Amino acid sequence: MITQNVKDALKEIVGEENYSDHVIDLVAFATDASEHKQRPDCAVWVTSTEQVKAIIKLANQERFPVVPRGAGTSLAGLAVPAEGGLVMDLGRMNKIIKISLDDRLVVVQPGVVYADLDKKLAPDGFFFPPDPASGMVATLGGNVATNAGGIRGAKYGTTRDYVLGLEVVLPNGEVLRAGGQNIKSSSGYDLARIFVGSEGTLGVITEIILKINPKPTETATAMATFPTLADAGRAVTQIMRSGILPSVLEVMDRLAIKAINENTDLGLPEVEAVLLAETDGFTAEEASFQIQKIIDLFKANNASSVEMATDPAEAAALWAARKSVYSVLTRLNNTVVVEDLAVPLSKVADTLKIIEEVGEKYGLQMPTVGHVGDGNLHPGVAFDRYDEKQRETAHAAAAELLGRVAGMGGTLTGEHGIGLAKAPHMHLEHDPVSMETMRSLKKLFDPHNILNPGKMALEA
Ligand SMILES: Cc1cc2nc3c(=O)[nH]c(=O)nc-3n(C[C@H](O)[C@H](O)[C@H](O)COP(=O)(O)OP(=O)(O)OC[C@H]3O[C@@H](n4cnc5c(N)ncnc54)[C@H](O)[C@@H]3O)c2cc1C
Repeated sequence: MITQNVKDALKEIVGEENYSDHVIDLVAFATDASEHKQRPDCAVWVTSTEQVKAIIKLANQERFPVVPRGAGTSLAGLAVPAEGGLVMDLGRMNKIIKISLDDRLVVVQPGVVYADLDKKLAPDGFFFPPDPASGMVATLGGNVATNAGGIRGAKYGTTRDYVLGLEVVLPNGEVLRAGGQNIKSSSGYDLARIFVGSEGTLGVITEIILKINPKPTETATAMATFPTLADAGRAVTQIMRSGILPSVLEVMDRLAIKAINENTDLGLPEVEAVLLAETDGFTAEEASFQIQKIIDLFKANNASSVEMATDPAEAAALWAARKSVYSVLTRLNNTVVVEDLAVPLSKVADTLKIIEEVGEKYGLQMPTVGHVGDGNLHPGVAFDRYDEKQRETAHAAAAELLGRVAGMGGTLTGEHGIGLAKAPHMHLEHDPVSMETMRSLKKLFDPHNILNPGKMALEA
């Protein structure tokens, strides 16, 4: 519980206008895009590193929790103030400080929205590739703290691959500047990347240096339907070892196709799986050479139909189904938890089968889409959150899924993070020595556990 004296001190630091303990703000900050909820005691909107420093020093002295927050789009409860305390909104630290095409990098504040950076880079033919589907609202600070990825992961990697340097306010209030403006460096421990995917548990990121890439100007798109999951899975494996790296390779399973057909007029063929591929390059020939190779592999793996877009309108039509998925899922029930499994590429078909089995066993609809080019699958677990039995069933199904995926060498989360949702399952993937090392690291950085407590099973 934050005392009135501390609340007054917070107002002194950020100004009355950047502080709130109004119930409407506390309700908004109680949750993110997950099913988890807990109200904070108060919230601040910070505008400078100096303010962050002063607040963290105060929190350390008075021992209250601080939860850094970007846009609050986390799907796994990462931004939920599990133990109350203060929500620190970084959305107003949203300046693009520098764009250097000569050095191939940008320097930004953490509250810059992904899409705003993309818009600024586009006229010069550059982009920041991770491209999470939430990019219209999610912040770059959030992207770094979650190691966000997206549909281009197989070819371009995730946020981690682009972080060159960070300014971070540590839990003791000191400012750490790690990394720098060099595209390569082997100098010492890679301190900057310890904060990538750290979910706001080790420090507050106040400045970010990101590598950027030249953006390919041409793309080619194709879609194929498959009579069995095994055919689609084999096609994925063969594409990914063929030497061609698709910029996008997405899957939709039978239940996702059914949900789309029941809620849109797209009229997809009701097959076991659809694969959607995009290739890119700097000439139309380069993109189309690659897509042709992928089409050949679709056909060699029993595709029942293959369509290739011949112009942007046709490509948009092929994309319409995949883009409709999240809105369609929300119509299945009042709650849809989007899981985020990732498995070795050769296990994609087995995993789709496991998802189907678990859905049937627990009597739940679990339509699945995913970025199969990097082994990342998103089964949506639909249930009625007001029905306690269904809620328990959904959680039991998710636990079984995570256990089976971890058992075959997969990971609990490809891009959304651990947060509250996956914390109870960390031991399935990480051995006791790894867990102990993570906990020691947390204690080293944050001995009083003030930063985003309750996440990632760090306190057990
Ligand atoms: C419709 C939808 C689609 C999505 N698609 C994708 C996707 O394709 N790929 C993907 O990776 N994710 C996706 N997500 C999840 C989410 O958007 C990402 O995790 C994103 O990176 C979170 O950014 P944010 O600004 O909303 O951060 P928040 O949700 O506010 O915070 C996330 C975590 O980052 C920490 N944090 C935020 N800012 C800072 C900071 N400055 N310093 C330290 N810690 C900080 C928070 O404490 C929290 O632990 C999706 C979410 C939705 C709702």
